[in-house]
Amino acid sequence: MPESLPPDLVALRECCERFARDVLMPRQAALAAGQVDEATVRVAVTQAARETGVFAMTQPKSFGGREAGPLALTVARDTLAGYNTGLDAYVFGPGPGVLAGCDEPLRSLYLHPLLAGEKRSGFAFTEPDDAEHFTRAVPTADGAFLVSGRKSYVTRGGDADFINTLVDVPGQGRALLVIDACSPGLSIERRFETLDGSHHVAFRFDAVRVPGDRMIGRPGEGLPRALGQIGDTRLAIAARAVGLSRWTIDFTRAHLQSPHHSGTSLSAREGVRLRYADMRIRTFAARSMVYRTARLGEAGANAINEGSACKVYATETLGEVVDSAIQLVGGKALTVGHPLERLYRQARALRTAEGASDVLRLSLARGDLDLGKGVL
Ligand SMILES: Cc1cc2nc3c(=O)[nH]c(=O)nc-3n(C[C@H](O)[C@H](O)[C@H](O)COP(=O)(O)OP(=O)(O)OC[C@H]3O[C@@H](n4cnc5c(N)ncnc54)[C@H](O)[C@@H]3O)c2cc1C
Repeated sequence: MPESLPPDLVALRECCERFARDVLMPRQAALAAGQVDEATVRVAVTQAARETGVFAMTQPKSFGGREAGPLALTVARDTLAGYNTGLDAYVFGPGPGVLAGCDEPLRSLYLHPLLAGEKRSGFAFTEPDDAEHFTRAVPTADGAFLVSGRKSYVTRGGDADFINTLVDVPGQGRALLVIDACSPGLSIERRFETLDGSHHVAFRFDAVRVPGDRMIGRPGEGLPRALGQIGDTRLAIAARAVGLSRWTIDFTRAHLQSPHHSGTSLSAREGVRLRYADMRIRTFAARSMVYRTARLGEAGANAINEGSACKVYATETLGEVVDSAIQLVGGKALTVGHPLERLYRQARALRTAEGASDVLRLSLARGDLDLGKGVL
């Protein structure tokens, strides 16, 4: 539970609180006032995060990182999200993702530049609904692959230097290929923005030639590796969602306790109190399960099912909490640019990205009913 942390994690929480107050909040205010641009803020936040050591928490020790465990990462993510600055994404250094444990030449060409912030990656998994076939990688006589197909949803794909792409190697199964974004035959079909403000592209691969040594692992290992990488992000999303739910409750409390045009503070009305209590009950449950799951992971247990449960519950809780907050704050919360309006859009995307809620529910049921995995 967040209450019974060892001294080093209490210190980490205090460090993240100071960081949010001293670094993130002033920059959020400057950004909102139009005094600085987003790129300048990103550089400043990342530099400050490097100095405090929080940046290195997501990076492997073999690369000089701190490689923090799930509990420390949960503490940091929950704490930073509790300030709802929208800047916590710039605090953590890039992790290895699907390139974790890869061999040469992938280490030197992609993993090290990625961790150093010299190259950016995209993750191409989702296929368009009208795909003629799954994106295919056909082996050539000289050991390379010719990749053809389409991927419909690659976050920040337009800025990526290379794309980790899930492909089908005919007769051998799914595999992950690292494909340079500048490869001849690779083109951007469409650029789009989603309601949470994030940017994506759809890619087209027309016989893109990829050297054979750009495969991560072997054919047949692609899907478990890709799902493993998505699985790692689920507890991270859940921890962020509980921090944002806590921020929403703080915001709502301040509103309910302030003067109201009716002459009676909203906090005195029983119906309002019932709704407010539900926001707290759900957030308390979500936060408790996230910390319990982090402890399971910290103890070395396989917590894949619990990470999925946390992602479903914490993101759905955030959606409900923000929705209730908007109801209680009233019309001004729907004004474009209001923090609750922005959060409502961000919260909605979290229930689909990195595993749609119902798909995760099915995988949880399978984990228990078919594989006997998971705890209560
Ligand atoms: C903000 C954001 C960022 C994203 N970034 C990336 C990215 O970087 N790379 C990438 O590859 N993709 C990315 N995606 C795409 C995301 O992974 C997919 O949208 C998601 O996996 C759902 O797949 P789909 O859109 O193809 O919908 P579908 O698979 O068609 O599913 C649509 C809905 O149908 C239901 N459903 C689907 N299958 C089942 C089932 N078996 N049983 C019951 N119900 C089911 C679910 O409710 C689901 O939400 C991103 C999406 C978002 C919103």
